[in-house]
Amino acid sequence: MSVTDLTAAERERILAKAAHFSPPDYVLSDGRRDLVGLSREELVAEMDAFGEKPFRAKQLWHWIYHQGVRDFSAMSSIAKPLQEKLAERFIVGRPEVATDQLSKDDTRKFLFRFRDHEAVETVYIPDRREDRGAVCISSQVGCTLSCKFCHTGTQRLARNLSAAEIVGQFMAARDAYGEWPSPRGETPRLLSTIVLMGMGEPLYNYENVAKAMKIIMDNEGIALSRRRITLSTSGVVPMMDRAGEELGVNLAVSLHAVTDELRDEIVPLNRKYPIKEVIEACRRYPGASNARRITFEYIMLRGVNDSEADARALVKLIAGLPAKVNLIPFNPWPGSAYQPSTPEQLKKFAAIVMNAGYASPIRTPRGRDILAACGQLKSAMEKDAAE
Ligand code: SAH
Ligand code: SF4
Repeated sequence: MSVTDLTAAERERILAKAAHFSPPDYVLSDGRRDLVGLSREELVAEMDAFGEKPFRAKQLWHWIYHQGVRDFSAMSSIAKPLQEKLAERFIVGRPEVATDQLSKDDTRKFLFRFRDHEAVETVYIPDRREDRGAVCISSQVGCTLSCKFCHTGTQRLARNLSAAEIVGQFMAARDAYGEWPSPRGETPRLLSTIVLMGMGEPLYNYENVAKAMKIIMDNEGIALSRRRITLSTSGVVPMMDRAGEELGVNLAVSLHAVTDELRDEIVPLNRKYPIKEVIEACRRYPGASNARRITFEYIMLRGVNDSEADARALVKLIAGLPAKVNLIPFNPWPGSAYQPSTPEQLKKFAAIVMNAGYASPIRTPRGRDILAACGQLKSAMEKDAAE
């Protein structure tokens, strides 16, 4: 049975239930605990319970997040007997690499599987011009929000990812590229930025996403600056304020429509947080400036939201905001209801936005051949079951 065979009521019920699924605990069936995903304070507490002083947590943090070491016996600043004791009680975990696919354009898609066998996709998108690139990370298995153009939103089951599972995607991608240890400062490297644009709505899993980002930004570990992290949301207004205050990462907002009537239909969350409230939250977002602009994502759907009048309404809507507009050509997936805009229409739309003073890059789809492009992510298990 495909998810589209369900009635709207059944779908609502399943998704409402699924929304409460929380991630598995970090204790393995053999009783060992995964140290990845603990905050610094939790790691100190864990060591305290284990009879070790706080400096032990500091050492472990360095080995785990700066050096990328998983094997306690390689942690040379720790005496051998203690290494052995640690290995009996703890692990430094990673998600399992279920599949690893390379696109013709060097985009690489991983399917990472977790302990309960749920899986998410993580995509590495190299920058064509430089030796760097973005890791597109998932925040949930599936998504409960059902935007009409999005493949992830058709996935039946959903649960939140734990902080360990979110950090683990980045760490496992680093393993695949051999990018340990972490550089000091902002040295360019292949995995240089993170975009929270994979599967799921990060602001519907705020606590775990925030914890994961704090681990990734910690100066003594991976040390990625908040300027190198972009969180994309479909507009969970109250959580946008919190993310701005507590994390200060770059913000991307999936706008996609300029009237509530259309946005209600294609981004159903709009019925809860309409356009006006989303834009107001953007105006309040701390640190937004010309140097750190808010990105508005706008998916170009042929004959739906891509007219020149739409473009003019868009620039009016965001007037005065330090912003750029990312025009995303719609990436079709099997069974999707829309067509991508024509290249001519895309250019006309982009020109209007640009003439109003906003950078309006047209995002080139990457990794289309391996279904790694925006909005095409969906776990392989679900694909097998549903199509
Ligand atoms: N839930 C968050 C982040 C994940 S979606 C959000 O919606 O912002 C990341 C981006 O992919 C969003 O801008 C989304 O609108 C876009 N997207 C979804 N489906 C797409 C498709 N079929 N083609 C192109 N982009 C798509
Ligand atoms: Fe969820 Fe984002 Fe897809 Fe909408 S576009 S269904 S919010 S992942």
